Amino acid sequence: MKLYNLKDESQSVDFETAVKTGLGRKQGLFFPKQLLPLNNIEALLKMDVHQRNYEILKPFVGENISDEQLSQIIQKTFAFPAKLKNVTKNEYCLELFHGPTLAFKDFGANFMANCLQSFVDEKPITILTATSGDTGAAVAHAFHGLKNIQVVILFPKGKISELQQKMFTTLGNNIHTVAVEGSFDDCQQLVKQSFDQAELVETIGLNSANSINISRLLAQVCYYFDAFAQLPVEQRNEVVVAVPSGNFGNLCAGIIAKTLGLPVKRFIASTNVNDTVPRYLQTGQWSPKETIATISNAMDVSKPNNWPRIEYLMDSDQFDSNALTGGAVDEDKTAATMRELYKHGYISEPHAAVAYSGLHESLQPGETGIFLGTAHPAKFKSTVEEILQLEIPLPEELAKCSVKDDLSTEMTADFSKLENYLYSLKK
Ligand SMILES: *Cc1c(COP(=O)(O)O)cnc(C)c1O
Repeated sequence: MKLYNLKDESQSVDFETAVKTGLGRKQGLFFPKQLLPLNNIEALLKMDVHQRNYEILKPFVGENISDEQLSQIIQKTFAFPAKLKNVTKNEYCLELFHGPTLAFKDFGANFMANCLQSFVDEKPITILTATSGDTGAAVAHAFHGLKNIQVVILFPKGKISELQQKMFTTLGNNIHTVAVEGSFDDCQQLVKQSFDQAELVETIGLNSANSINISRLLAQVCYYFDAFAQLPVEQRNEVVVAVPSGNFGNLCAGIIAKTLGLPVKRFIASTNVNDTVPRYLQTGQWSPKETIATISNAMDVSKPNNWPRIEYLMDSDQFDSNALTGGAVDEDKTAATMRELYKHGYISEPHAAVAYSGLHESLQPGETGIFLGTAHPAKFKSTVEEILQLEIPLPEELAKCSVKDDLSTEMTADFSKLENYLYSLKK
C-alpha cells in the first residue's frame, strides 16, 4: 500500500521507506490515501491472534517484507497478550500493559524495531525520539542490543517519575538518553528540527521511533480487533471505546480499525487538562495552551502530533466525525475515578482512569464500553498508593532497573547542542 505525505501529496512512499524515514518532507506524516476495508470481519474475529494480525497488517506492509518474515515479526511483536477485563456488567478495560515495559507502547515499539531490523543493511541508522514517559522505555527495550542501530531518547528533565526514567536511562550500550531542560513539547520540537536538517538526516541515517512512525500505529490497530474478539458476542453491537490520549496515536489506531471495518459505534477522546483536542471538537478552534504537568503525565501534551491523521480521515470522509467526542478530566476527578474503579474491585492508574471517567459519563443504556488500560498501575506506584491508600508491589521488571545507574546526559533545549551530540555518536 502506498503511503502519502499529508503535507505534500506529491511524495508517496512504500512501507519500508515510511518506516525508515519516519516523517516526510515539510514534517508531513505518512498515511494511506484510502484505507481498504477488510472483508469478513466475523471470520477475522474468530482467528487466532497472530493469524488475525497478519491479515490486518499484510496489506500495509505489501511486498516489503516476505510472508514468512512478517509471520515471524508478528510472533515476536505480539508475544504478550492484550487482555479484556470485565470491570462492571457492561464496562471493560482493555489491558495493554502486559509487555516488557508494562505499557501499551510495547506493541508499537516492538513491531517497529522488528520491521526495521528486517530492513537495515550496512548503513547504520540512528533513532531519535522524544518521550513524555513511556515511549522511552518501550523504544529502549525494543531496540536494545540491535545491530547497526543507535537510539537517542530525549525527555523533559525532572518531569517524569524516577522509576519511569530508570526504565530507559539505565540500559546503556546502543541506548543514549538525554535529559532536556524544558517541556516534552520542547523535546518534540528538537526532534522535528533535526529532521529538517537534510545533511544530518543523511549522515547518521536519522529515523524517529515516536508515535508518528506509521509502523507503531499499525501494530496498535490490531488490539482493537483483539478486544472485540474477547467480548461476548451479544455485547459486540454497540461498542463505545474510550482512549486516554496524549499524542493521539492510540486513538488514531482505533479509528483506523473502525475504518477497516471493525464495528465500533463511537470513540471518546479522553484527555487530562491538556485538552487541545476536546476543546477543538467542541469549538472548532485549534488553540493549544502551555502544557500543564499532571498525574497522567504520559498525556501531558498540548500539540498532539498524530492529530493530522485523524483530521485527514475525517476530511476525506473515511471516518464520520460524529463518531468522535472528547472530554477532559482534571486531577481531582482522575483521583476520584481511580477510587470509584477500586470500589468495583479494579486497581487502576491515572491514564486509564481518565479514559474510564469519559466512558462512564457518556455510556448510554444498551451500549458496551471499553476503556484502554495503557499502563500497569505499578508504573505509577506512588500516585496509585497515595490515592487508593494501599500498597502495590513493584513488579520484577521495575525492581531490577530501579537500583541501576542513570546514564543520561543533560542538555539545554538548544538545537545546535543536540546536533553536535548526534554527530558525535557517529564516530
Ligand atoms: C503514551 C501514553 C498515552 C497516550 O497515548 P497517545 O497514543 O500518545 O495518545 C496514554 N497512557 C499512557 C500510559 C501512555 O504511555
